[in-house]
Amino acid sequence: KHVVIGGGTGFIGTQIINSLSRKGASYTCISRMPGPNRMSWHDLECYGLPENTTAVVNVAGQNILDPTQRWSEGFKQNVINSRVKTTKSLANAILNSKAEVFVTISGVSYYKPNDTEYTEESQCTKYDFLSELCHEWEGAAQLPKDSNIRQVTIRSGVVLGKNGGMIKQIYLPFFFGLGGPIDNGNQYMPWIHVTDLVNLFLFSIENKNVEGILNGVAPQIVTNKEFTKAFATVMRRPAFIPVPRIFLNILFNEERAKIMLEGQKVVPKRVQELGFQYQYPDINSACTELVGKNIVK
Ligand code: NDP
Repeated sequence: KHVVIGGGTGFIGTQIINSLSRKGASYTCISRMPGPNRMSWHDLECYGLPENTTAVVNVAGQNILDPTQRWSEGFKQNVINSRVKTTKSLANAILNSKAEVFVTISGVSYYKPNDTEYTEESQCTKYDFLSELCHEWEGAAQLPKDSNIRQVTIRSGVVLGKNGGMIKQIYLPFFFGLGGPIDNGNQYMPWIHVTDLVNLFLFSIENKNVEGILNGVAPQIVTNKEFTKAFATVMRRPAFIPVPRIFLNILFNEERAKIMLEGQKVVPKRVQELGFQYQYPDINSACTELVGKNIVK
């Protein structure tokens, strides 16, 4: 087995590669930086996928919540291109290869935040920047019907893991007892432990009956307040200081602060019907693992 993975140097990508390697698969990572087992996006356009490729994954994407980046038109374009163009390039390349399966990531921003319980079958139309991004991202992953290549899109919630994403951002404030809910904390926070997300990628690569959309979220639905309580409890710290809405709107701009201020009630209906087993189905078990040894501070 040889897996080509766009964004394989990132938080999620690195752990997908580690898991694949443990299972004896080889990989090529597509990255903007050269290195061993890597190729560039330009190489992909020019030469296509390595001959022995059996599966293709894309988890590339410019970090939307980078506070050092102003929410300018240029940055927004980077956010779009780093997801949509990379996915499209891989979708084109896979058609000229012998690979059997194409698994890509998207986000739960596809769904409109309200009280609706969303399953993979729920249809949503675009309503803002982030939902439009998800539609385009998922559209770029579509392959012609007659291609015979299996295509899976994982709509991921907030990915909880020690070495990146949200936990890396909030660890220090919580460590110093300065943590707290975001705004009133009543917004849903669709989440998944990174181990489960990685396993879902591997499950999608390995199982021939898996196809289409999967909600990459844990079965337990929580609000931001419930997550805050669970995380603060395992950290053994108070978490009373709320992060004000206005602060996030000013720091990030309303368009992207929405990721933190609004949330969707998303259930992994198809994932469970397909028999996928979660290692961290509930927020307490996930948080206990996150605060275990070896956390990157
Ligand atoms: P990271 O920021 O850790 O990694 C992103 C990867 O994308 C990097 O390896 C980088 O590769 C590549 N990348 C970054 N900017 C660009 C760019 N402008 N053009 C091409 N490639 C780029 O992110 P995560 O691992 O946390 O997330 C991966 C994907 O999953 C993203 O698309 C994200 O939107 C999505 N996702 C993440 C969630 C989370 O909670 N973390 C939740 C839902 C979706 P290199 O520098 O080697 O080129």
